[in-house]
Order: sequence, then C-alpha cells, then structure tokens
Amino acid sequence: MKKLFTISTGLLVIVFLTSCTKTLVLDQHDNQQTCDTGAVRLIADFEASRMDECQVLADNNYLITITPENTPINPSPWYAFKIEADTATDITVNIKISGNRDNRYLPKFSQDMKTWSVYPHKYRNKQLILNIKASTKPVYIAGQEVIDNQYYVDWAKKLQKTAHITHQQLGTSQQGRPIYKIESRGESNEWLVILGRLHPPEITGALALFPFVETLLADNPLAEYFRKNYNLLVIPNLNPDGVAMGNWRHNANGVDLNRDWITFKQPETQQVHQYLQQLVASGAKIKFAVDFHSTQHDVFYTMPTDYGVEDRYFVKHWLGALDKAMPNFDVIQKPGNRPNNGVSKQYFADNYQVHAITYEMGDETNRDNIDIIATNASILLMQTLLANVDHNKE
Ligand SMILES: [Zn+2]
Repeated sequence: MKKLFTISTGLLVIVFLTSCTKTLVLDQHDNQQTCDTGAVRLIADFEASRMDECQVLADNNYLITITPENTPINPSPWYAFKIEADTATDITVNIKISGNRDNRYLPKFSQDMKTWSVYPHKYRNKQLILNIKASTKPVYIAGQEVIDNQYYVDWAKKLQKTAHITHQQLGTSQQGRPIYKIESRGESNEWLVILGRLHPPEITGALALFPFVETLLADNPLAEYFRKNYNLLVIPNLNPDGVAMGNWRHNANGVDLNRDWITFKQPETQQVHQYLQQLVASGAKIKFAVDFHSTQHDVFYTMPTDYGVEDRYFVKHWLGALDKAMPNFDVIQKPGNRPNNGVSKQYFADNYQVHAITYEMGDETNRDNIDIIATNASILLMQTLLANVDHNKE
C-alpha cells in the first residue's frame, strides 16, 4: 500500500496569501516541509534549506519535489535538507524538480555542513535517486555547499583580524536582513567594487569571491601597495533574503537582482546604487567592478573594447595575463553589450564609463581550482591596475 505523509507546515499560509494578495512573498518558513515517519525524518528547518514537498512513497522510500519561488525563472533548482533516523536505516531519496525540469546541480553530501562532496546518484525519468544511510547523526544533502548569511558575517570578522577593513551595514533587504559592506580605504579616491551572491544557489561564484578578496586584503607588499593606491568596496552577499529562503534565483519580491541595475525597483540594488552615487558625489572614482556568479562552465563576461569605456584594453590585458599565467586553464572572455538588460556590468559601464565583468565559475568546477584561479586573477588584477601601461593601447 502506498502511504502518503505530506505534512505541510506552510501550505495553508501560501493558499491564504495567494487568494488575498497579488504578489506572493514567501516567508523563510513556507518552503519547509517535513517527512516524519516516526523513525526517519527528512527536514528543511535551517537557513538556506529547501524542500517544497516530501512524500513517503513506501517504506524507506521518499519523494522530494522542488519548486521555484515564482515563475518565470532561470532553471537552477536549489535543494537543501537534513536526514536523520532513530536507528541506522537505509533509505532511498528521489528528488524531482517540478514542471519536469532538469536538475542543474550534482547532489552534495555533508555531515557537518562544512565539508561537502558529490554524492553517488542515479537519474531515472529526470529524477535524482540517492541511497543514503540515515542514523541519529544528521546528514545533509544539497545542490551545492550550503553557505548561509551567517557564513559571510563570520568571514568578514575573520578578515578584520588581519586586515585594516571596516565591516558595516550598507542597507537592508526587502525582508529586513542586513546587507553588509567591507571596505578598505587607502590614500586614493579610486575604487574597485566587488559584488556577490545576487543569485543564491551560485555557490561557486562565492567560492571564488572569498579567495579573490582575501588576496586583495593579504599581508604582503603587493596587496599593501595596492590598497594604498585603490580603495575596495566588497558587497559579498547582496541577496540575503534569497539565501535564507533557499531561492533558486530571485529576491524576496520574486525579482532577478541582476536584471534590476537599470530601474532599481528592488531595495537591494537601489541601496548599492545610492551608495555608489554618494561616493562619487564626494569625489570617488569607480575604477572597475567584478560581480561573482556561477553557470555551467567557467567564463568571464566582459564589456567590448569598443564600448567607449576608459582604458579600453584593461580587461583584455588582465585576463590575457591570467590566461598566460595558467596554461592549464582556458580563460574564456565573452565581450557583450546588453543595453536595457539591467545587468551589473552594463550598469558600471554606462554610469561610470569603466569596465566591469561578470566572473562566472562552472557549477562543478574543481573547488581547489576555483581557489587557484581566483587567487591568480586577484594578484594579476592588482598588478594590471598598478602597472604603468597605457590600457588604451592593445
Ligand atoms: Zn548569476
């Protein structure tokens, strides 16, 4: 007999909201369902978790359905949940993406939420199938490593111990979560701007941002000289609501923040824009910006050299140096101009007449390589920005 244990904690709230409001804003807890047979529990009760529906199909066989926060949406299904049992039990977990969509991420496994590895799995009819040993010690399954909002706060505090930086609140998200900025100010009015986590599941972008920034803030002559000559503004986690809710892509209003850099209808992008405008009004010069993301493969989306921004060959010089320095890594530069699209790199080019890039790491790029690429890219960016070279000449 087929047992159906769909215990919904948030379903009633969703139905109520849908019937009385036009915009459905999901609370952090609305996507938290539980499968609880009394002996085995599948739970999504932590920040950044997601398990929209859980059914017990048969003894020790579970079906999880993952649904996006709203549609239309770029298909990057995110899931993260915890499994525990009263006694050691072998279970099968099937993960289905609603709308029969493809799964994007290889499932990752952790026992401590710190160390993660790709978990053995099969696909059947687009469903991911995992055989897992559940026990009293919880295990975690997620689309990528779970990096929650607190992780960024802890990281910034660690940086503060060794680098002369400030870590302050820049603004507030739609749901009232703090948006933090890290700043280093030297003897210059030129700024390098770094953005991250506009898209919550794009973890490999975050895994690149950390070493990239750490290298800029390192305790060595190059980084120190760089920080004397350039100020640094880092906003590592611009979508804390999306991160907390385990969203596929959007903020709490169901909007893609990397399409909002032209209308600024969302509080998150609006506050960054206002802050940059304020800096410029007080004499600052935005020099360059890097926005960290993830996609299927490693690629650097750049502005074309003939777009009319200053130092037209600067990015080509920088990424060309990275390509030369890493013979085993193919640096793919994709110049593009997307007017009216609301992408951050276009915003920097159009508003400050400077280059900016979208730094994309592949979803499954080797994690050690992400670190090595970012460290090299950071060192070479400092060298390129400091070099006494005419970047208007190829
Ligand atoms: Zn992205």
